[in-house]
Amino acid sequence: MAVRKVTAKKMVTKKALSKKWVYLFAEGNKDMRDLLGGKGAGLAEMTNAQLPVPPGFTITTEACNTYVALGKKFPKGMLKQTLAAMKQVEKQTGKKFGDAKNPLLVSVRSGAKFSMPGMMDTVLNLGLNSETLTGIEALTNNPRFAQDAYRRFIQMFGRIVMGIEAKKWDAIFDGVKEKFHAKQDTDLGVDGLKEVVVKYKELYKAELGEEFPEDPYKQLELAIGAVFGSWMGKRAVDYRRINKIADNLGTAVNVCTMVFGNMGDDSGTGVAFTRDPGTGENELFGEYLVNAQGEDVVAGIRTPMKIAELKEKNKKVYNEFHKIARRMEKHYREMQDLEFTVERGKLYMLQTRTGKRTARAAVNVAVQMVNEKLITKEEAVQRVDPQQVVQLLMPQFDYKAKEEATKVGKLLAKGLNASPGAATGLAIFDPDTAEKLGKEGKSIILVRYETSPEDVHGMYASKGILTQHGGATSHAAVVARGAGLPCVAGCEGIRVDEEKKQFTAGNKTIKEGDSISIDGGSGEVFAGEIRTVLPDYDKDENLKLLLSWADEIRLRKSRKGMENAPELGLQVWANADYPRDARMARRFGAQGIGLCRTEHMFMETERLPIVQKMILAKNDADRQVYLDQLLPIQRGDFIGLFEAMEELPTVIRLIDPPLHEFLPSYEELLVKSTELRMRIEYMHKDDVDNSSEKARLKETEELLNAVKGMKEANPMLGLRGCRLGITMPQITKMQTRAIIEAACILKKRGVNVHPEIMIPLVGHVNELKNQREILEAEAKKVIAEQGIELEYKFGTMIEIPRGALTANQIAEYAQFFSFGTNDLTQTTFGYSRDDAEGKFLLKYVEDKILPENPFQSLDQIGVGRLMQIAVKEGRAVKPGLKVGICGEHGGDPSSIDFCHRTGLNYVSCSPFRVPVARLAAAQAALAKVVKDK
Ligand code: ADP
Ligand code: MG
Ligand code: MG
Repeated sequence: MAVRKVTAKKMVTKKALSKKWVYLFAEGNKDMRDLLGGKGAGLAEMTNAQLPVPPGFTITTEACNTYVALGKKFPKGMLKQTLAAMKQVEKQTGKKFGDAKNPLLVSVRSGAKFSMPGMMDTVLNLGLNSETLTGIEALTNNPRFAQDAYRRFIQMFGRIVMGIEAKKWDAIFDGVKEKFHAKQDTDLGVDGLKEVVVKYKELYKAELGEEFPEDPYKQLELAIGAVFGSWMGKRAVDYRRINKIADNLGTAVNVCTMVFGNMGDDSGTGVAFTRDPGTGENELFGEYLVNAQGEDVVAGIRTPMKIAELKEKNKKVYNEFHKIARRMEKHYREMQDLEFTVERGKLYMLQTRTGKRTARAAVNVAVQMVNEKLITKEEAVQRVDPQQVVQLLMPQFDYKAKEEATKVGKLLAKGLNASPGAATGLAIFDPDTAEKLGKEGKSIILVRYETSPEDVHGMYASKGILTQHGGATSHAAVVARGAGLPCVAGCEGIRVDEEKKQFTAGNKTIKEGDSISIDGGSGEVFAGEIRTVLPDYDKDENLKLLLSWADEIRLRKSRKGMENAPELGLQVWANADYPRDARMARRFGAQGIGLCRTEHMFMETERLPIVQKMILAKNDADRQVYLDQLLPIQRGDFIGLFEAMEELPTVIRLIDPPLHEFLPSYEELLVKSTELRMRIEYMHKDDVDNSSEKARLKETEELLNAVKGMKEANPMLGLRGCRLGITMPQITKMQTRAIIEAACILKKRGVNVHPEIMIPLVGHVNELKNQREILEAEAKKVIAEQGIELEYKFGTMIEIPRGALTANQIAEYAQFFSFGTNDLTQTTFGYSRDDAEGKFLLKYVEDKILPENPFQSLDQIGVGRLMQIAVKEGRAVKPGLKVGICGEHGGDPSSIDFCHRTGLNYVSCSPFRVPVARLAAAQAALAKVVKDK
């Protein structure tokens, strides 16, 4: 082992000799983010676009990786190249690093490919020492400025590079301020600052046992090493784990000539977006602080002015910046987030990157830029994250109201944005109270340390969920997303005390019944109510336009030549059980219903007793009595559904769940019957008349026995799906009759309906054959009775591995397949979803045993392989076999991409996710085209 390590090291060193580790800003460009990091690539691109960037250079991410691999040693040649680059910068600036007369000062800035908290902060004013200080004093003719720069540098270097705690520096500074009666930092004069410098140096020596380094090159070396070292620091590593960023990217180091925003009132520093990142409005959006260095803006020492104000206060600087911002947007063809500094009236650009934005802004900016002919429709469609689109359909906080709440200090904490949407309500700390108040019509936010399956009833009764603990795949997050409830999870900034029914955030306490507001799209938690607006999709012209472009792209021939696949891209259908869901789905652009679950209709209060009697009937004749009662009800359901869908295809699945789901719980019945028995036997023994209780006992025990008879050890794998239809063919007949009668009735009204009947849970072709025979016979009979021609389709779900593996046999008896990927995932992994998500699955994801929750994002390698087999072999028997997906995965962007590549005809998802799927399907089509090129 040891020997091998040495060879590996040697190889690194050898390769290192010939390598370029250092790039002047002029030598890079925007496409070199891997090597130069995001900041470095941006500085290079701006330099080459002739924008005013202070000269400098970037040490590569490869140098960082090599430094880590060598056990904290700089790669050979790196320092030499750094010195050479420094010489170039000296030439460009006419200054000299370490020179007493005309010293060059630099900033040392970390910059990985992705901006990343946990990386080392920037050190400004590097190169200062007692000699260069005199140069700065003489050149600026401003001794106070020079001393201020020096004390800042010693502090930043000591704290950031050498790790001496901030509070020790602060204590010294505050002490001197007090001594000189200075209220603000700016009140401290030269003498005070000089004293700070002396004390800072003493602290440095006391902490580290050596003098503060005078040699600028030594300062530079230590700073570069510290940036590289911070890549493997705990905070950076943790951040990468959570955000799935690879460890081997490394960070670059940017060395950049200092410019000073703190040289008087004609100087300043600012940050700005080229468009409003909240709304997307085409206006500069940002802040500017007069007479300040960059870090002062972040520290919030003084209140900066809005960029719009700068327009009035300093027209020249504003105009110049405005011009540059416009140029940058044209150049990048994307909204930018800019940092700049003005030194004695001269503007310098210090950073550019793609601006982060809300979902609203993302859609608006993408559409505007197409209108401005800056980008193509294809680019616009690729610019918006499909997951973000959900936010535009969910209740949101009024943007201004939220800003206002933040301003007045109502923002309590920020957690994970686990499920989008905004909610305002009373903080309630236990699920039972939440359920009780929720049913009374109150708006509730359920607040828990974390949630478990025992909390679900309270979660459903709430308007939003807040947890202190747990990640994006925690129980709370999973349930909330499933139910379409806003959720902020893992909000470690609050302390939940479920006993006392309160939580604290800093020094604020929220008690049971206090109003709070949560934004599941941003993770923010607020005290009090914030005005909520329900977005109106129909009036959202930009979103609708963007989605229409997505449709154009998605329904192009994007799969030409792909084996067995339809040429056109994915259609988007919806899962809808009720007419109102179907109407909503169509509004959002669904092209069909991919799954109507008939059993939900059975659950409604007035129907359930009939369903229960039907299930528990002792013989077929009895059962038929109840089925006859259910028939008109179901027919009515289907008429409503077909009316809503008109000519669009509508897939109706026959009854699927284990029957016990319709029955009262065995455990509850057992408790009830035991109680009754005890009452009769012990307490009411001498009562004259206990006949009514005896009757109730008899009834309860009969029900108990019937339910016991239906009880299964593992219902998920028990009597359900087509197994039900096979054991009780009357149910299949009744449902077929209801569907076909409904379709005929509408057809007579002139609506050309397209019913498709789907058999669930087929594992063996004979199951399908059996059901098909019963169904076809009944359908034929009904059509004859109705005396009208009707076309319908007959197909099956593929949701059992054996079904997928024998797709060639099954395809002979099916006109379409629909992947039920929830059950297919359960049966392929051998997990029952409820047990898995409640018990071990989240740990699996945390411990990286599984890359993600396979119930949320399709397991493409395993479950996906079964799908590929089924598609291929099914279409080998029946070319043009229509194949779709109706599991929850049908609304998940990466699963949709997989479905596109696998050649499916459509994805079907919940109505709210239809717009997400339309966009994701277009992106999948574009990705495929790119790959083909
Ligand atoms: P971050 O990644 O945190 O934005 P930066 O490296 O951009 O870190 O720098 C932090 C602050 O220091 C910013 O306000 C930036 O504008 C300022 N800054 C960085 N380099 C210089 C420089 N050479 N001259 C003046 N200010 C600088
Ligand atoms: Mg910055
Ligand atoms: Mg299923």
